Amino acid sequence: MPEINLIAAKKQMIEQQLVSRGILDEGVLRAMSSVPRERFVDKAMERHAYEDGPLPIGKGQTISQPYVVALMTEALDLTGNEKILEVGTGSGYQTAILAELAHTVYTVERLESLLERAKKILKELGYTNVLYKIFNGSLGWNENAPYDGIIVTAGAPGIPEPLIEQLVEGGRLIIPIGNRFGQELIKIKKTGGRLRERTLGSVKFVSLIGEHGWSD
Ligand code: SAH
Repeated sequence: MPEINLIAAKKQMIEQQLVSRGILDEGVLRAMSSVPRERFVDKAMERHAYEDGPLPIGKGQTISQPYVVALMTEALDLTGNEKILEVGTGSGYQTAILAELAHTVYTVERLESLLERAKKILKELGYTNVLYKIFNGSLGWNENAPYDGIIVTAGAPGIPEPLIEQLVEGGRLIIPIGNRFGQELIKIKKTGGRLRERTLGSVKFVSLIGEHGWSD
């Protein structure tokens, strides 16, 4: 098999999958240029790390498509001071992008083996602003609430009420809502006790499991 140049592949991903589709936030582009996505997939998958789609990470879960990671991160409008809750750590790739751009990332995953692997890689890469928890994240992570932003990286049947409660006034929730086969990515802004909703596009995520999600 010919060697693949991951640096060139990453550069191409930034241009062809992100910039050309309208991702313009410089912070997001910088973070996606600096985080080595290949570290978050199995060795055998490395050569596919910058391809335009999700990849399997074991336990029936996937690392999200680069464009979707960028779109969700951009929608959080990060300035560097935020406290962010991520539901569904998975590979830890989205966690790394958030850790580059926010003050602190609280990440929750229900599958221990995935969380342990993500934690190990994120530590090796030097991220010290991430806190981890094994938990049903459809309930949020109440002890550290409220959050400036919450990002759910698994598809839900509806908006989990605890997540709205755990947002600050002015906070943003990014979540895929739909059925088990396809969802709309929704951005919800909590303002003046009201929720403003905007649709960012169609997506296909693995299921959010648990109370406020789907049954296993
Ligand atoms: N952002 C991750 C996406 C991983 S897939 C990445 O790019 O790697 C979604 C993850 O959500 C899976 O790891 C799955 O185990 C997890 N998940 C599903 N339901 C959950 C729940 N209720 N609480 C926490 N994690 C959940």
